[in-house]
Amino acid sequence: MENCIFCKIIKQEIQAHKIYEDEETIVILDINPASKGHSLVIPKKHYENLQDVTEEALKNIIVTTKKIAKKLQEKLNATGINVVNASGKDAQQTVEHIHFHVVPRYKEDGLDLWFHGRKKELNVDEIKKQIIN
Ligand code: 5GP
Ligand code: ZN
Repeated sequence: MENCIFCKIIKQEIQAHKIYEDEETIVILDINPASKGHSLVIPKKHYENLQDVTEEALKNIIVTTKKIAKKLQEKLNATGINVVNASGKDAQQTVEHIHFHVVPRYKEDGLDLWFHGRKKELNVDEIKKQIIN
């Protein structure tokens, strides 16, 4: 994947602050952090997003995510963790190499990553019919 920034980081063609590495994954500090310790868990093999990643690669990503969440909480004295993934342009994915954001949270840090939209008019029966059938 020639033009992929994360592939370039993995091949060490571009610098990044790496905080963890194993056979299948790396973790780097986000260049534009939302909080102290905001990190990105990235598989070494290129997959675009959640829709095309293999189950095996995804397992490696989530296991590393857990390790990093625990480490960040312990070492940075975070008091909470958000894990965020954007899969697809309309989901605000900007780098098309799957990654999980691990965002350490701190008491009264002022960040708000939660859902405030309320779409009460949506037809639950219709949606269920579309999904299940
Ligand atoms: P997305 O919107 O695709 O989920 O997020 C991509 C993330 O990658 C952003 O938070 C952005 O700050 C981060 N990012 C983009 N380019 C680089 C880079 O060259 N180095 C690092 N460390 N992070 C990057
Ligand atoms: Zn890539």
